[in-house]
Amino acid sequence: MLIQAITLFPEMFDSITGHGVTGRANKQNLWRFQSINPRQFADNKLGYIDDRPFGGGPGMIMMAPPLQKAVEAAKNASAEKARVIYLSPQGRLFNQQKAQELAQLPHLILLCGRYEGIDERLLQSSVDEEISMGDFVVSGGELPAMMLMDAVLRLIPGVLGDIRSAEQDSFSDGLLDCPHYTKPLEFQGMGVPEVLRSGNHGLIAEWRLKQSLQRTLERRPDLLEKRRLIPKESRLLQEILQEQREIQS
Ligand code: SAM
Repeated sequence: MLIQAITLFPEMFDSITGHGVTGRANKQNLWRFQSINPRQFADNKLGYIDDRPFGGGPGMIMMAPPLQKAVEAAKNASAEKARVIYLSPQGRLFNQQKAQELAQLPHLILLCGRYEGIDERLLQSSVDEEISMGDFVVSGGELPAMMLMDAVLRLIPGVLGDIRSAEQDSFSDGLLDCPHYTKPLEFQGMGVPEVLRSGNHGLIAEWRLKQSLQRTLERRPDLLEKRRLIPKESRLLQEILQEQREIQS
């Protein structure tokens, strides 16, 4: 996979290309990264790519022409069809399903805004999709782009040491992950659930599934409403609800 970021701050991406599982996978050529600084397409010697908004108001707006040239340059870097994504608080909320969809694509171009944002005409002419990282505003698209990249890259075979890690993560099957424990056996008076030390893999799998269902019910009931349960999950959920009724009575 080729990922390109159109950004005024290319050095910010050193953290994802140089560290952790994404950095290791980059060194192994499991994915490639290129940054494109739109300043190189500025029509002035000082490299300005922003100007004041028509109609007045605070802040600056990134101009369409240099960004359009940057998008075209990015597209020309690969024969594969690219998906152009603008990271924007006004986009569709990012989630694991979107990460799985993007992980299938060969070429992503991530457009990182700054200042008050980007001239609307560039978004209409050159962007396929707008994606938001949440209902809040940060100063630039670089951090949102890196979050998207990390979520996508960990789904690419070989990036994680064990792909089952991603498969068991929260949201991958529509539920939250179960709780995890490691050494020491006792911490601040708290032990480890006995079943996890039983060596019985069937019981452990069932305990984990029940914990996932319980956590999802308590913390994200909206996820459960959307999910079709298999018979085993329905049985475990009934058990959880019965246990809750017994505690309350
Ligand atoms: N005026 C814009 C608005 O209210 O929609 C916000 C501009 S913000 C200060 C600058 C840039 O940060 C945006 O162009 C976008 O690329 C990025 N950004 C900010 N919040 C974001 C979010 N929640 N998700 C994705 N990108 C975001």
